[in-house]
Amino acid sequence: MMKIHGLSKLTLLDYPEHTACTLFCGGCNFRCPFCQNSTLARAPEREPVIPRDEIMAFLKKRSGILQGVCITGGEPTLHEDLPEWIRQIRHLGYLVKLDTNGYRPDVLEKLLADCPPDYVAMDIKSSRAGYGLAAGLPGMDTKPVEESVRLLRAARIPVEFRTTLVKGIHTKEDIRSIGRWLAGTDRYFLQHFEDSENVPDHRLSGFSKQETEGFLKILRRTIPGAAARGL
Ligand code: SF4
Repeated sequence: MMKIHGLSKLTLLDYPEHTACTLFCGGCNFRCPFCQNSTLARAPEREPVIPRDEIMAFLKKRSGILQGVCITGGEPTLHEDLPEWIRQIRHLGYLVKLDTNGYRPDVLEKLLADCPPDYVAMDIKSSRAGYGLAAGLPGMDTKPVEESVRLLRAARIPVEFRTTLVKGIHTKEDIRSIGRWLAGTDRYFLQHFEDSENVPDHRLSGFSKQETEGFLKILRRTIPGAAARGL
């Protein structure tokens, strides 16, 4: 059962061009060393739970005021009842945005067929060669992630891909490789990394504005709309 451990009641940033709230579920199948929600991802049982009734009552009250609901984590696709949550939230008149790391293409495929969210944001942790380092799973098989990219690029809903850029994890070669992999995609964002209390590896840092602009220049050769966030 998907448990909601956090509710951000208003966000103008999480759902592009919409007013929304954000629901945070727990658990994750990745171990990114730069995770901003590492307790939620790794030890959700230590986090408080907001009862489902409370969430639904809040959503009913805000229906018609907020436009969208973002479901994030942790990793939402780990939870069997995610489709049920999406259906119920849409039934209340909301658009639903799903954040995912794309490691469960089977779940995404079923969602896209049976109850598609209105927007999906998928993390591209790194180039395929660098994925294990960025996701904290050395030697991982990247095929599931590649399959999710393929599925989402073929989907009829708006989709974005995004990479949180971290010094010590990403190199220029990773960026070149991502540019080739995602060539021609509509929406791709580089996100700025900031260390915070919850990040597992405090040796990591973000790239400067200038460095990020250099990466964007490389990316725009193959992804003309590539943009940066949070700089
Ligand atoms: S996929 Fe997201 S939630 Fe999971 S460990 Fe990585 S950054 Fe954290």
